[in-house]
Amino acid sequence: MSNSKDCAVDTLTGAQARLEKKEISAVELARHFIERIKAIDPALNSVITLCEEAAIAQAEQADARRAHGEAGPLTGIPFLHKDLFCTRGIRTSCGSRMLDNFVAPYDATVTEKLAAAGMVMLGKANMDEFAMGSSNETSFYGVCRNPWDTSRVPGGSSGGSAAAVAAGLAPVATATDTGGSIRLPAAFCGISGIKPTYGRVSRYGMIAFASSLDQGGPMAHTAEDCAHLLGAMAGFDVRDATSLEDPVPDYTATLDAPLTGLKFGVPKDFFAEGLDPKVAQAIETASGQLESLGARRVEVTLPHLRASIPTYYVIAPAEASSNLARYDGVRFGYRCSDPQDITDLITRSRSEAFGEEVKRRILTGTFVLSAGYYDAYYGRALAVRKLIAQDFDAAFEAVDIIVGPTAPGPAFALDTFAKDPVKMYLTDIFTASANLAGLPAMSIPAGLAEGLPVGLQLIGRRLDEARLLNVAHQFQQVSDWHLMRPEISNAH
Ligand code: GLN
Repeated sequence: MSNSKDCAVDTLTGAQARLEKKEISAVELARHFIERIKAIDPALNSVITLCEEAAIAQAEQADARRAHGEAGPLTGIPFLHKDLFCTRGIRTSCGSRMLDNFVAPYDATVTEKLAAAGMVMLGKANMDEFAMGSSNETSFYGVCRNPWDTSRVPGGSSGGSAAAVAAGLAPVATATDTGGSIRLPAAFCGISGIKPTYGRVSRYGMIAFASSLDQGGPMAHTAEDCAHLLGAMAGFDVRDATSLEDPVPDYTATLDAPLTGLKFGVPKDFFAEGLDPKVAQAIETASGQLESLGARRVEVTLPHLRASIPTYYVIAPAEASSNLARYDGVRFGYRCSDPQDITDLITRSRSEAFGEEVKRRILTGTFVLSAGYYDAYYGRALAVRKLIAQDFDAAFEAVDIIVGPTAPGPAFALDTFAKDPVKMYLTDIFTASANLAGLPAMSIPAGLAEGLPVGLQLIGRRLDEARLLNVAHQFQQVSDWHLMRPEISNAH
């Protein structure tokens, strides 16, 4: 472990300061990270596609913009893009054999926005296939490893984004979160990540898993960096029917607000069986620090938390089975060789190109939506989803934010749940409820358990991202967990 306050360019704000002072050019910065990816990533496998030439070209444009006095705050900042955001002319694989040959013909809204801000895309980050997983072990491109201990998983599904940022291969990365995929890998890799309110970041061009739950967001070392990147990603989009019209505040403007008078709750439901005592201890210590910053702890409960896993694992597969019906081998994506007829073409293309976990979700989803079982499973899951949302409504009458663990324990070893998918699903126990309720939620580093990072989760009211970022930033003024770096980041 090392403390790299001096390694300024490994954060967005650090790189920004050096670009603004002209101590480094955008091209030098891009080269720095490309060299690190080449040197360190063979041990991690966090990058599916490295876009060296395109990145240098974008960096040259960023330098030209700066020379003409036209640079914005993010101009020249390198990033990695989770490989489910469409990127025109560049493979967008979604971690699947199905899309291994898919070169997106258009850009996602998020891709367009970051390009317009002058950011430099270094490449596409590894992920679980179709974002289904908690460990990044379901990727067609192979597992991604945790930079803190390469025998462990980085968390999923945005494992590549998290591992890369933690190891200093990019200052920031994009990610998505359907049931925890920003927060869980952020926790396991010792970085910060925020899943905004559903509808805050456009889903246009973001390959769909479960459309009523999917949400894009940033991953970075600090809350301040997340505030910068979220500001660039968020906003109304006519091309996404569920996009919110509310204006995007300047998330960096309120980072320094004092926490005096803030009310937070730490629901006892989080401390049920299965929570690692070291994680519980880290959450208690962090709560104490919030109190010393002037916040007040208030009792709240989330009585239906326990139901969030079964509810999520009915709704998400149901939506996935519908979304993934489009991959039929006909118009784009994988096609089997020598099909006998159209049925054979569709059946074999899907059988050969989808991995085991994706097939499991499609089967489950199709089952819970089938005529005889719809009411018993899908209908009931929708009803429980309402109860979970109501728990939060009640809690937020008493408190401004909810605080708890992000995951039941630190990063687990590769293959731990290979034969037991249901146990793997349980790692989402603390994260999935925020997606079911559509609420913003964040994970920040808050301790170590056996030398591995522990994540603190903050859940907020609808559209209250600014408050989560403010609380996280204040916490990061009195703690230094976000300054820790894994040993591997010194390797180059
Ligand atoms: N682990 C959860 C799942 O497998 C969440 C994934 C996600 O948020 N994309 O569905």
